[in-house]
Amino acid sequence: MADVIETQLAVLGAGPGGYPAAFLAADKGMKVTLIDARERPGGTCLHVGCIPSKAVLHAAKLLTDARDAAHIGITFGQPKIDINGVRGHWQRVVETLTGNLGRLAQARKIDYVTGRGKFIDGRTIEVAGRGRYRFENCIVATGSVPAVPPSLNLASPRVMDSTGALKLEDVPPHLLVVGGGYIGLEMGYVYAALGSKVTVVEMTDGLLPGCDRDLVLPLHKRLSNIFDKIYLKTKVSRLEETPQGIRVTLEGEDVADKQPIFERVLVAVGRRPNSRDLGLDKAGVASDERGFIQVDERRRTTAERIYAIGDVAGEPMLAHKATYEGKIAVEVIAGEPAVYDARAVPAVVFTDPEVAWCGLTETEAQRSNREIKRVRFPWAGSGRAMTLDRTEGLTKLIVDPETDRVLGVGIVGAGAGEMIAEAMLAIEMAASARDLAMTMHAHPTLSETLMEAAESLYGLAVHQMPAKK
Ligand code: NAD
Repeated sequence: MADVIETQLAVLGAGPGGYPAAFLAADKGMKVTLIDARERPGGTCLHVGCIPSKAVLHAAKLLTDARDAAHIGITFGQPKIDINGVRGHWQRVVETLTGNLGRLAQARKIDYVTGRGKFIDGRTIEVAGRGRYRFENCIVATGSVPAVPPSLNLASPRVMDSTGALKLEDVPPHLLVVGGGYIGLEMGYVYAALGSKVTVVEMTDGLLPGCDRDLVLPLHKRLSNIFDKIYLKTKVSRLEETPQGIRVTLEGEDVADKQPIFERVLVAVGRRPNSRDLGLDKAGVASDERGFIQVDERRRTTAERIYAIGDVAGEPMLAHKATYEGKIAVEVIAGEPAVYDARAVPAVVFTDPEVAWCGLTETEAQRSNREIKRVRFPWAGSGRAMTLDRTEGLTKLIVDPETDRVLGVGIVGAGAGEMIAEAMLAIEMAASARDLAMTMHAHPTLSETLMEAAESLYGLAVHQMPAKK
C-alpha cells in the first residue's frame, strides 16, 4: 500500500474556485494540498477559458475599432494578421498568470499535486501516480466540461470546442458556430473579426437566451453586420465529414440551404458539471440528475467534511461565483459564521458591445408575476457614448415599486462589463434608485447612464424627457 499523506484541507481542482480557496485556507494557517490535472493552477478559466478568450477578444476589438474608425474620418489600410502573433499574445498572458499563481501557491507552502484525484472513501483522495491523501476537510472544485450531445459529437479536426477554437489553427473561410450563447458569440466575434464568414445557429428564438431582449437587441443588430448569417429557432441536428468540409444539417423554417458545408464548426451548446469519475459515491457525496453536486448554503455536501463550490456545485457556471463560494467554504471550515448570501451574481458577455446584467431581470419578474418598476436610459442621450461613436447602448434598472430599491440592472454597450460593478454594489448595499440618482457621477462617463436611468424614475433625468403624466 502506498504511503498516506495527511493534510488538513484537500482542494480538488485549481480553477478560480479551488485556487483562491486553497490560498485563503493557507493564509488562515491550514496545511493545504491543492490537486489538479494541470501542471499549474488556473483551471479552465485561466488556461483555456475566460482569460485567453479575453486576450483574443481584445485583438478582435482592435480590428473592428480600426474598421469603424472610418466613421470619424480615420481610415486604416487592410490589416495584416499574423495568427501566430495573436495566439502568442494569449499564450504569454496565460504563461505569466499561471506562473504567478504557481509561485503564490509555493510562497504559501501549499502542496500542489499534479494529477487526477479520486475519492476512495469519505476521508481519502487518491491521485494516480502520486499517492493517497487523507484529509480533515475537502473542497471539490472540479468545474465543468463542454456538453456535447451525441448528434454533434463528430471526431474531426474540423469540429472544435472552445479550447480548440482558441488554438487559432487557421482562419477558416466559413465557420459555423452551433449555439448563440456566451461562447458562441464571443468566439464567433473573434473569428469574424479575423476574417471568417461566420454563421451562428441558435435553437431558441433569440441570442443569449435568458438575457432580457431589449439588452440583446443592440448586440444582435451589430452582430448582424459582423456575422454572415444568424439563424434563430434553428437546430443543428447532424454533422458529417466530407472531403470539402463538414456537412451540417439545419432544422429551421428560415433556412434556405438545409445542408451547407463549412471548413470548420465550433460547437458551443453549454457545459456540464465535471462530477463523473470522481468517486463521489465512495465518499457519500450526492449529486442531482444533471450531475451537479448538492450543497447547502454553507457549501456542505451530503458527506461530512466535504464541500463543493463553483460549476460542479450548480449554476450559474461563472468563475466569480466559484471564487465567492470558495471563500464561504473555507470560512465555514475555519469555524467562522459564513453562509452564501450573495444578493446577485453578475453576468458579462464580452462581445462588442458587451452585455452585462445582475440581480432580477425583467424576464424573471414577468415570469413570476412580480410587480416592478422599470426605467431605461438609452445611450443616445449620453455625451460620452457620442464621443465614442457608440450610442447603441442601453442602461436599465429594475426597481421595487414600493421601496424603490434596486433589484436588478442590465446594461448593453461598450464597457458594460466594468459598469456592472456599481450596480452590484447598489444591490448588495440595498441602495434605492434615489441613492443612485443622488450620487454624483463623473462627467463625461458612461457610468452617468446609471445615474440618469435612476433619475428618470423621478422625472429628473437631464438628457431624457420626463414621462408624460
Ligand atoms: P450557453 O448555455 O451560454 O449557450 C448554448 C446555446 O446553444 C444556447 O443558447 C442553446 O439554446 C444553444 N443550442 C443548444 N443546442 C443547440 C443545437 N443543437 N443547435 C443550435 N443551438 C443549440 O453555453 P456556452 O456558450 O457553451 O457556454 C457555456 C457556459 O460557459 C456558459 O453558460 C457560461 O456559464 C460559461 N461562459 C461564460 C462566459 C462569460 O462569463 N463571459 C464566457 C464563456 C462561457
